[in-house]
Amino acid sequence: MTVNVHPYDYDLFVIGAGSGGVRAARISAGYGARVAVAEEYRVGGTCVIRGCVPKKLLVYASHYHDEIADAAAFGWTVEGTPRFSWPKLIAAKDREIDRLNGLYIKGLESAGVTLMEGRARFVDAHTLDVGGKLVTAATVLIATGATPEVPAIPGREHAITSNEAFHLADLPGRIAIVGAGYIAVEFAGIFAGMGAKTTLVHRRAQLLRGFDDDMARRLGEEYVQKGIDLHLSATPTAIDKTASGLVLHLSDGHSLEVDQVMFATGRRPNTKGLGLEAAGVDAGAKGEVLVDLYSRTNVPNIYAVGDVTDRLALTPVAIKEGHAFADTVFGGRPAVADHADVPTAVFSQPPIGTVGLTEAEAVERYGAVDIYEAGFRPMKHTLTGRQTRTYMKLIVEPRSDRVVGVHMIGDDAPEIVQALGIAIKAGATKAQFDRTVAVHPTAAEELVLMRTKARTAKAEAPAA
Ligand code: NDP
Repeated sequence: MTVNVHPYDYDLFVIGAGSGGVRAARISAGYGARVAVAEEYRVGGTCVIRGCVPKKLLVYASHYHDEIADAAAFGWTVEGTPRFSWPKLIAAKDREIDRLNGLYIKGLESAGVTLMEGRARFVDAHTLDVGGKLVTAATVLIATGATPEVPAIPGREHAITSNEAFHLADLPGRIAIVGAGYIAVEFAGIFAGMGAKTTLVHRRAQLLRGFDDDMARRLGEEYVQKGIDLHLSATPTAIDKTASGLVLHLSDGHSLEVDQVMFATGRRPNTKGLGLEAAGVDAGAKGEVLVDLYSRTNVPNIYAVGDVTDRLALTPVAIKEGHAFADTVFGGRPAVADHADVPTAVFSQPPIGTVGLTEAEAVERYGAVDIYEAGFRPMKHTLTGRQTRTYMKLIVEPRSDRVVGVHMIGDDAPEIVQALGIAIKAGATKAQFDRTVAVHPTAAEELVLMRTKARTAKAEAPAA
């Protein structure tokens, strides 16, 4: 009699080879699990293929416009008119993305993971259909990410999202970007920096909802100074295609004539057509897979990590969740991805770095908090004459003296906040910030030199 030691084809089947799925697959394989991953597009996922990485390359490219102009203030003469080639940039970016895609594939192969090209769909809790082939697994991890959501207005088919923005044949001369979250403000900075006439259309009066108000307001001011047209308190109602481009009609009666309309109006968890019902997996109103602290769904052998769970849609968080899943299920070490005090950055121009609570959140949690702040013209621009300003702020809980929030807008803010994230995670107090010696001359030194409290922020007293 033969005994079937492996009732399933694989110990783990991962749906989606993005940041979370790849980490989970590799670590699980390292623990000895037999792992397969299905990917319908390109290994690497949104962040590597059409998100964080190519975005950052475009951000670098868009800085040169101002930097070439600023060079004159430092004695440089740049002969002739500098010219920019969008196709050359896109080709260089594509080569780098191909290289990274190759590295991700190699990484999976060398970990012994089987890669399957195609879209996977649940047949039942242990069976998946991958392009017509049935595969079974003891454990399934859903790591399918999210996809851009475009409002249902007439003419939406003429608009692009960030997916297409990375592959445009030409730099648009005029672009309208709808939304004011991470993606909208990052692309507004990119296109404006490259010389496109850029309009940001947003339904509220202020950008970046959810960020500290001082960051959001200051970024708006910086963008106006950069020549970005902020069209606020309006929503798109229709898009018409004309002989000379596109006309974006807005709820306030205005219309904008542009070459491209880009929607950056949020992302929807990628669960459509995944067959969640066949597996009995519960999803929320946006289609997000509902999970517990260990990323486990209501079906005991099915887990989900990353953007598809709509918890904290950030690549490093998805990676932590994928790793914690592998440790828990295959490493024999139950682990939870920590979602508190996650540092994050917006690669706007200037960029924003933030960790911990916003002022509004801190007031809500603690009732009253002390605010320390510093605002100044960056040293570099004392020569260039540019009016941009750097601003940073510390939020201190007065009873414990703990710094519960740090926010900065200005050059290098993402790099600075990454390092500060360690201090915040370690529970650093304002006194410890004060004891730290400055590195001079830097912008970051201001963070340890804020001696005088700017104000106390308090919840407003209820009306009598
Ligand atoms: P966000 O959810 O951050 O922002 C969506 C924006 O679109 C908001 O300004 C929102 O306005 C607006 N909006 C939503 N629906 C409509 C509508 N129907 N009509 C008009 N405006 C609308 O999404 P993003 O697409 O910018 O980014 C998605 C996620 O990707 C982010 O949450 C982030 O986690 C991640 N990301 C992270 C990056 C980073 O770390 N640097 C970079 C890029 C993305 P309102 O405020 O009124 O809701």
